[in-house]
Amino acid sequence: MIKKNFSLKNHNTLGVVVQANDCFFAHDLYSLQRVLHVYSKKKVQVIGSGSNILFTKNITGLLIKMHIKGIYVLKKQAGYVYLKVGAGVLWHDLVCFCLYRNYGGIENLILIPGTVGAAPIQNIGAYGVSLSDTMVALTAIHIESGRLKIFSKAACDFGYRQSFFKKNQSQYIITDVTFRLTLPIKHQLHTQYGIIQHTLNQMSLQNPTIQSVGNAIMHIRKTKLPDPQKIGNVGSFFQNPMVSQKKYRRLKKKNPNLIAYAIDAQHVKLSAAWLIEACGWKKKVVNKVGLYDKHALVLVNHGGATGKSIKAFAQTIQEDVKKKMTVDLKFEVNIW
Ligand code: FAD
Ligand code: NAP
Repeated sequence: MIKKNFSLKNHNTLGVVVQANDCFFAHDLYSLQRVLHVYSKKKVQVIGSGSNILFTKNITGLLIKMHIKGIYVLKKQAGYVYLKVGAGVLWHDLVCFCLYRNYGGIENLILIPGTVGAAPIQNIGAYGVSLSDTMVALTAIHIESGRLKIFSKAACDFGYRQSFFKKNQSQYIITDVTFRLTLPIKHQLHTQYGIIQHTLNQMSLQNPTIQSVGNAIMHIRKTKLPDPQKIGNVGSFFQNPMVSQKKYRRLKKKNPNLIAYAIDAQHVKLSAAWLIEACGWKKKVVNKVGLYDKHALVLVNHGGATGKSIKAFAQTIQEDVKKKMTVDLKFEVNIW
C-alpha cells in the first residue's frame, strides 16, 4: 500500500523533518516489483533507516522504505557459514544474531546504525573491518526495468567507504545480501586499532573472543558517539581523505601533529577530524549546527536546523580546510 504525505520525522534524519508525497513499505520482493512497474515513470528513491542521508528538500517522487526481513543459513562448509539476509534487517541485529551463534567476521561493525541493504552502499567499515571482507554477493532490482540481478563482490566495485552503488545512485534497489562468516575454527580477531586493545585490557580479558571484541567496541562507541535517537547526526559527515605520500610529507612538515595512517606504498589516509579541529571548527555553532563535542567528524543538529543550513555549514568547513590545509574533504553522507 502507498502511504500519502508520509513524514520521516521519526527516522534518523539528522533531526531534519521531511515529507514524501508517496511512500511504499517494501515487505517482499514481488510487491516491490509490482510497485516499480506501476511507478516506472516517476523518480524512485530508496531508504533504509535514513541514518546516512541529509534531506535538503521534500521527496516528490516515490520513496521506498525497505522492510524485507529474514536471515537464512544457506550452508556450512569448510569452517564457514553462508548467510542470506533481507535488506530490511537492521545491521546491528544481524551482528547480534551472529555473535549469539558464534559466527565471526562482522563483530567490529557492531552498533553501526542502519539496514543490511544500505550497508554495501558505502561499504560500511569500522575498526579495520569493512563489509566487503565478508560479503560474497547481493541481489538487486534494476529500478528502470524491474529485473533482478545478482552482483558478485567484484561487481560491487568496493573501495574505502565506496561502491558501484554509491557511484550510481538510484539505479538499483538491494533486496538481500549474502555473507561468508567464520565458524570457531576459522575465527580471526581484528584488534589492530589501539583503542580496542586498550579497552580489552581494561576489561581484563587475556583471551578475547569475537563476543568480547564486540562488547569492547560497543562500549567504545557508546562513550564516543551521539545516539541519533537523542541528537540528530549521520555519523561521520566527511570521509577521511587519501593523499599521496609526497603530499603527506609536505603537510606533515607544516603540521607536525597531523594524524595519518599509511595505506600502501603510495597513499596515506589523513584524519579528517584532526584537519577540522586544526582549522578551529571544534566549538563553532552556526544556525543551530555544530560538531559533536567528543567527535569533530560528526555534525549535530542542536534543534531546528534545516537540511540546507547543515549543508551550508559543511560546505564552509570544506572550503576552510581546502584553504588552510590544501586538502579536499568529501562528503560521506548522501545529500538528497
Ligand atoms: P540510509 O541512510 O537510509 O541510506 C543511505 C544510502 O543508501 C542512500 O543513498 C539510500 O538511497 C541507499 N540505500 C538504502 N537502502 C538501500 C537499498 N536497499 N538498496 C539500494 N540503496 C539503498 N557508517 C560506517 O561505515 N561506519 C560506521 O562506523 C558508522 N557509524 C555511524 C554511527 C552513527 C551514530 C550514525 C548515525 C551513522 C554511522 N554510519 C557509519 C553511517 C550509517 O550507519 C551507514 O551508512 C548505514 O549503512 C546507513 O544505513 P541506513 O539504512 O540508515 O541507510
Ligand atoms: P578513532 O579510533 O578515533 O580513529 C580516528 C581515525 O583514525 C579513524 O577515522 C580511523 O580510520 C583512523 N585509524 C585509527 N586507528 C587506525 C589504524 N590502526 N589503522 C588505520 N586507521 C586508523 O576513530 P573513531 O572516529 O572513534 O571511529 C572508530 C571507527 O568507527 C573508525 O573505523 C570509524 O571509521 C568508524 N566510524 C565511522 C562512522 C561513519 O559514519 N562512517 C562513524 C563513527 C565511527 P577509519 O575511519 O578508516 O577506520
